Formats: sequence, C-alpha cells, structure tokens
Amino acid sequence: MNNISRRRFIQWLGSASALGALGAPSLALPNSKARIIVVGGGFGGATCANYLKRFDPSLDVTLIEQSKQFYTCPFSNAVLGGLYDMDFIRHDYAKLQSKHHIKLIQDKASTIDPVKQTVRTTAGRTLSYDRLVLSPGIDFRWNAIEGYDPAASLIMPHAWKAGEQTVLLRKQLHEMRDGGVVVIAPPANPFRCPPGPYERASMIAHYLKQHKPRSKVLILDAKDQFSKQTLFQDAWDEFYPDIIEWVPGSQGGRVTAVDPKHMTVTADDERIKTDVANIIPPQLAGDIAHRSGLTNDQGWCPVNQKTFESTIYKNVHVIGDASIAGKMPKSGFAASSQGKVCAAEIVAALHGDTVGTSSWVNTCYSLITPDYGISVAAVYRLSDEGIVGVKGAGGVGPRDAPRSTRRMEAIYAEGWYRSITADIFG
Ligand SMILES: Cc1cc2nc3c(=O)[nH]c(=O)nc-3n(C[C@H](O)[C@H](O)[C@H](O)COP(=O)(O)OP(=O)(O)OC[C@H]3O[C@@H](n4cnc5c(N)ncnc54)[C@H](O)[C@@H]3O)c2cc1C
Repeated sequence: MNNISRRRFIQWLGSASALGALGAPSLALPNSKARIIVVGGGFGGATCANYLKRFDPSLDVTLIEQSKQFYTCPFSNAVLGGLYDMDFIRHDYAKLQSKHHIKLIQDKASTIDPVKQTVRTTAGRTLSYDRLVLSPGIDFRWNAIEGYDPAASLIMPHAWKAGEQTVLLRKQLHEMRDGGVVVIAPPANPFRCPPGPYERASMIAHYLKQHKPRSKVLILDAKDQFSKQTLFQDAWDEFYPDIIEWVPGSQGGRVTAVDPKHMTVTADDERIKTDVANIIPPQLAGDIAHRSGLTNDQGWCPVNQKTFESTIYKNVHVIGDASIAGKMPKSGFAASSQGKVCAAEIVAALHGDTVGTSSWVNTCYSLITPDYGISVAAVYRLSDEGIVGVKGAGGVGPRDAPRSTRRMEAIYAEGWYRSITADIFG
C-alpha cells in the first residue's frame, strides 16, 4: 500500500470510530514489530488492543488484565432489575487471543517506568514497550464520605465496578423486607456514567414494584441536576410515583457520612436509617495511573486530545474513564470510541504517518422499564478547546416522544449492547 492510499485509509479509521462497531480491513505495514502493551481489558483497553491488531496484524500486542473475566457495568442495572442474569454481562478474552492474536497476561500491572519504557506486574514480570496504552478505568476516593472505606463497601455496596459488587447489591435487594428503604447516593461530577445512578433507581424500582411494592428508593444526590433529568422524572412520575424520591444536593441530599454497623447515612446533618445503601463514592483515575505519576491535581490523566498520548509521559497513552477527554462523558461507548482512534494514531505514528480529522461518538441508553428506554447521543470533534460536541448532532430524546419511540429505545439499548460487546470481545 502506498503512502497516499495508506493516509486515506487512516483518515477513514477516524470516521469509522464515529460509526461505532464497524469491521475494518486489516493493514500490514512494514516496520511493524513494535511492542504495544495495553493495560486494562475493559471498554477502552480491549477495543484498543483489538483494533491495533485489525489495523496492523503484525504488531506485537500484549494485553495485561487483572481479571479472568470482564463483567460490564452497562446492563448491570438491568441485572439488578431482574431483566438479565450475570451471564449476560460476562465476557472473556478467548477470541481476542485466538482470533486477533493478542497476547493476554492475566496479572496486575503494578508500576510503570516511563524512562526505561517498562511495565512491572505483581507476579514479578517486567515487560518492555514501544508504546503503552492505559485504560484502567476508575478507582474510588475512599473516606471522602466519612466511614466509606473498602470494608464499608462490603456492607453498603457501590456496585460501580460490575461483578461481585453487583451480585452483593442484588442479594441485598432480594433479602430486603417489603416496606424497606433503598438509598442510592450518587456523587458530584465528574464520575463514571452520568445517567447510571438514575437508571439504577429505575431498575431497582422496577424490581421492587413487582416483588416488594411497599418499598422506597431514596436518591440522596450530591448534585442539583443530572443527565436526562426531565425524561427520567417524567417516567418516574408515570411508573414509580410512590417508590422513587430524589433529593437534590442543595436540599439536603448530599451524603457526608455513613455508618455501616447501624445502616445509617448522614445527609444535611440528618441520620437516615436504611435497609439497603448503594453508596457511589467520588472517583478518580484507576490506581496504576496515580502510582505512575500520570494524573493531575484532580486525579485524572491529562492527554493530547488528538492522540490520547499523556501530556506527562511520552509514548504512554491514556484512554477511557481515566483520561480527560474534553467534553466526552466517562462512558463505555466513549472509551471504545477513544480506543479506536488511539489505535489508529499509534499505528500511524509507528510508520511516520498522521491520522486525519478524527471524530468520536457516544450514545447512552437508559432503561426505565423493560420496554421503556430513553437516550442521549452526541458526536464529538477536535477544536482549539479540545474535544467538543458537534452542535446539532445528537441530543437528548424528545420529551413528548410517543410510546412506540420509548419501546424502540429499549430495543436499541439491547442492540447497542450486543453489538459493542461483540465488536470488542469477539
Ligand atoms: C451502573 C453502570 C452502568 C453503565 N452503563 C453504561 C452504558 O449503558 N453505556 C456506556 O457507554 N457506559 C456505561 N457505563 C460506563 C462504563 O462502564 C465505563 O465508562 C467504561 O467501563 C469505561 O471503560 P474503561 O476502559 O475506562 O474502564 P473499564 O471498562 O472499567 O476497564 C478497566 C479494566 O482495567 C483493569 N485494570 C485496572 N487496573 C489494572 C491494572 N493495574 N492491571 C491490570 N488490569 C487493570 C480492570 O480489571 C478492568 O477490566 C456504566 C457504568 C456503570 C457503573
């Protein structure tokens, strides 16, 4: 492939990321023995590893992921609502290895040496890289809410990383008495999945309405506004008027302390007794990003907005929730979109080429009931201020949409989930 057609191909990659789960023809370029390490096999990292190999099969791509299987946060709220079981949100790395020939190391990356360009793992391996991609997701600011530490999360689950925490929260909901109170405490911005706590309230209310109809969901919010607020509140008025109550931060909603022993949460100096407490604490970039000095004062990773290369260390790229990606939200779709653009940028850079104008995309569906969905969508482009939304592209679903639209959005939600996970993991 000559330079011109290669450049055109790489420009196409940029727009392909905006189209979501497209297949891409493979491109073997000369000089492709570069070693790329990707840390974190979630939405951002697994996509990036996969697309690096699709774009240039001769690259040496190693994925370091600490867990054997990946449970997605998307659709974990629907598991809590009783719509699906845990198997639906479980994925493994078999196809990334067998089909895309990515080397998988099941281990935890413990330290990075950006000067020697090596990654050390807890099992004692040291691996060298030419380019490193980090997509470690989030970690929690333990004790930012007084008393909320890792031990407290075993009694008052956050369930903001899917897996054992999802199972625990579901078990607590199943064991709760009819007439019980479920507190959900969402944090201030920025955090992973802005509409997530409100979809969770809807799905828990859906479960309670069928099985424990005298129960309540009390959302004690650190904020005064939230994503898709009008659509959520309209739907709550219709489906869960006696179940869901939302208390904004300025009206006493901000949770400042918890007492797991007595199952109380403190908001606005008032101690509230609860049966189930889902505390979603303030967040920051995944631990490895901090230990490697890749974060700013706010705990997130500043990156070049075009290439996602860290502005702190060369040849280290950070994507997904851990990165500061302009106006893009911390979502799985956004992380996957960034993974594709980052893969294209790395392949181009390794061959002395450049990528044209990339764009990114995000759509976020939320289920209110099994057949009532709402969505927000946006297309993003690069500007002088970083990554910004394209005016007029996307937006929140209309308030007066007919019931058939809501039904379709619920169907699209599942279609989106099936296609993005197939694109990433197999
Ligand atoms: C309840 C809920 C619902 C959501 N719903 C949606 C939705 O409908 N749509 C949507 O687009 N997004 C949704 N999200 C957001 C989405 O889950 C995240 O934005 C997305 O997972 C971010 O991708 P990531 O690659 O940054 O992190 P992750 O997907 O979390 O991947 C990080 C991976 O890195 C691994 N890892 C971390 N540190 C190390 C290390 N040191 N060594 C080895 N491995 C490591 C972890 O084990 C993990 O597998 C939801 C989130 C929540 C909590």
